[in-house]
Amino acid sequence: MITKIIHSLFLSCKKATLFIELNNGNNLNVLQKIRLKTHLKICKYCKSYEEKAQRIDRVLNNELHSVNIKNTNELEEKIKKRILGSE
Ligand SMILES: [Zn+2]
Repeated sequence: MITKIIHSLFLSCKKATLFIELNNGNNLNVLQKIRLKTHLKICKYCKSYEEKAQRIDRVLNNELHSVNIKNTNELEEKIKKRILGSE
């Protein structure tokens, strides 16, 4: 109940996930960052989404900078394994 009220006052989960994606590209202004941080403090679902999005970004950045891309299937498999945590 309280979480619902806070969500509607501060930021919806839909908007929070959009802000998370924008924030990864550094495209949020100060007010948006504060609203996102507040939302992430009270919403475990969006916090979890943020962690996964950051992990995917890290893996993709590492792979794209460290691999000579000739075989995209091999790259895709490597990225899947990294994201799922089995490598
Ligand atoms: Zn949320």
